[in-house]
Amino acid sequence: MWNKLETRLKQRQAQDMMRHRLTLESGQDTEVSIAGEHFVNFSSNDYLGLASHPTLSEATQKAIHRYGLGSGASHLVVGHSEEHHRLEEELAEFLGVERALLFSSGFMANYGVLTSLFDRKDLLIQDKLNHASLIDGGRSSEAKMLRYAHNDMSALERQLKHQVDTKLIVTDGVFSMDGDLAPLPEMLELSEQYKAKLMVDDAHGFGVLGASGKGTLEHFELEQSRADIYMATFGKALGGYGAFVAGKSLLIESLVQFARSYIYTTAMPPAVAAANRAGLKLVQSEPERRQQLQNNIDYFKQLAADKNLPLMESDTAIQPILLGSNERAVAISQGLRSKGLLVVAIRPPTVPENSARLRVTLTANHKRQHIEQLIEAIAELQVKH
Ligand SMILES: *Cc1c(COP(=O)(O)O)cnc(C)c1O
Repeated sequence: MWNKLETRLKQRQAQDMMRHRLTLESGQDTEVSIAGEHFVNFSSNDYLGLASHPTLSEATQKAIHRYGLGSGASHLVVGHSEEHHRLEEELAEFLGVERALLFSSGFMANYGVLTSLFDRKDLLIQDKLNHASLIDGGRSSEAKMLRYAHNDMSALERQLKHQVDTKLIVTDGVFSMDGDLAPLPEMLELSEQYKAKLMVDDAHGFGVLGASGKGTLEHFELEQSRADIYMATFGKALGGYGAFVAGKSLLIESLVQFARSYIYTTAMPPAVAAANRAGLKLVQSEPERRQQLQNNIDYFKQLAADKNLPLMESDTAIQPILLGSNERAVAISQGLRSKGLLVVAIRPPTVPENSARLRVTLTANHKRQHIEQLIEAIAELQVKH
């Protein structure tokens, strides 16, 4: 065993694929501190700038005062508190669906849905660029799984022609490493034509997209209920932690009864549920955060276009700069680091071979001057490497 692991690690090193963790000495914010140095942070998913918002800390402190920290048990034993329950009700109300169910993480939510609701007579049809948790959930499911090339609707249509009990189209709403959207209107047309169901993972759309922050469906002016299974997380735009699935009561009750990643795990601390509730309220009461984010996205794209930076086709807060080789992506990321700018290089296997990139993420709290500094630095480093 140990020899094999050593060989694998050496291979990874040789391919410039070794990953390293950064240790933050500050909260998750526009500026972060690492090893005594300050960086402007262009790598977090804290799109609305809520992770360090005082309202979330206050909600957490109040809940800790009342409930303590640990939830002490799983939801079905004795770990389901009022904070969890209210959060579920508020989510269902906000989205206009029958029920919502909390999961301790988005990974567990996706895994739970795909492994508990489908059997060998069913077919899961997934975009190749779907999040790892959807792919792994699909692999572990009894159902068969097919994957179509990213956003390729004719490939999807071919796969929809299979005769099975249930066909479920599974897609990210916003693709996490590319920033583009799934073409939900076309997908819904196909799903109707071929009698398929639709699951949307909106980890990067919920709170951000749509006039009121309801996510990718609202962005396309589609009824929320058009997604048979809607999943989103609290760890990104909402500045909290955990995830939920929303939809019909029949869906939610089935997950409560059968999803092993729901049943056999400790409930998130009630104080985290309280923070998520506070985040959900801010999404509704401070729409100006979405506007600030949009202004920053527009400004970034305009400056990047002026400098001919290799942007990808994205209008969201995720603005990847495609660099190709791992070596180049790492070198430019390190160059930015030495200028006080934090942009993590994303390499295979997270993205396809030869498509290493800088994954720039913008938040509502970035200042124009931060964005100017970033674009200048990338343009300069790009010539050197
Ligand atoms: C982050 C993410 C998840 C996982 O959510 P966690 O709560 O971080 O486990 C699932 N799907 C997508 C698309 C994500 O970006």
